[in-house]
Amino acid sequence: MKILRIDDFFSNTRLFNQHAKTRKINVFLLKKIPILFFANWLFIKRTKILKGWAPFPEISPKKLLEISNLLQKFDCSATLAITATFLDENSKFIPFFEKYPEQSKIIKDGVRKKIFHIANHGLTHCVVNKKKYLPKLFSSNRKYHREFYNWIPYSIKEDHIIKSNKLLEKYFNIKIDTFVPPGNVWCKDTEEILIKEGIKIILTDKKNINSNKQELKVINYDMISIHTKDIVEGSKEYFSNLLKENDYKVKSFSEFCKINNINS
Ligand SMILES: [Zn+2]
Repeated sequence: MKILRIDDFFSNTRLFNQHAKTRKINVFLLKKIPILFFANWLFIKRTKILKGWAPFPEISPKKLLEISNLLQKFDCSATLAITATFLDENSKFIPFFEKYPEQSKIIKDGVRKKIFHIANHGLTHCVVNKKKYLPKLFSSNRKYHREFYNWIPYSIKEDHIIKSNKLLEKYFNIKIDTFVPPGNVWCKDTEEILIKEGIKIILTDKKNINSNKQELKVINYDMISIHTKDIVEGSKEYFSNLLKENDYKVKSFSEFCKINNINS
């Protein structure tokens, strides 16, 4: 029995997180390097064969409706990790419902029908300072497409969590109690702020980790996590096959919490 999580709705990572595919230097070193020494140069990192991540289109309203219908058909739900603003190339923060009004409405409808459960996936998904999130000419900017590093000032992290929660709560008219750390990166400060903001659950792919805070529950099990990229770039049948192949008997996120004795 698993929950299904889909990450990266509306974040700029799909456009600006540009780097080539990587490979490990050797079996003893964990460090990853570009697949070819020049793979991160200029446009080469964006070519179909070498592209490690961006660019790719945002999920379309049509595809989103299809997902919503399929989830209904299979009698299950999905947690959508939404980044509350799209940070554009001029460092303008555009609320998700202004940048993607059609998709936002479809999600809102799905929330009402309890097909979608919403998780906070940051305000920007990336480091805002000095536009470090924009693509580089000769290297990867991947590490700047995470938002809650230890070295980011506390006041910025606090501002981002408060603002993103407010935007999501106001638009969907719900209480947000779940957080998906962008790039599975967060720190002690982040946890402190999350608790202050009423977040009770962290969903992550990071294994062997827990919070030492009683108020926070880290869920890193019984979960299939995918990205909008998988749907956008996958085959037409990608999502229906995923639902067919996996055991998503959980009707809702709250049911999952009940079964696992999690206080949501
Ligand atoms: Zn993400």
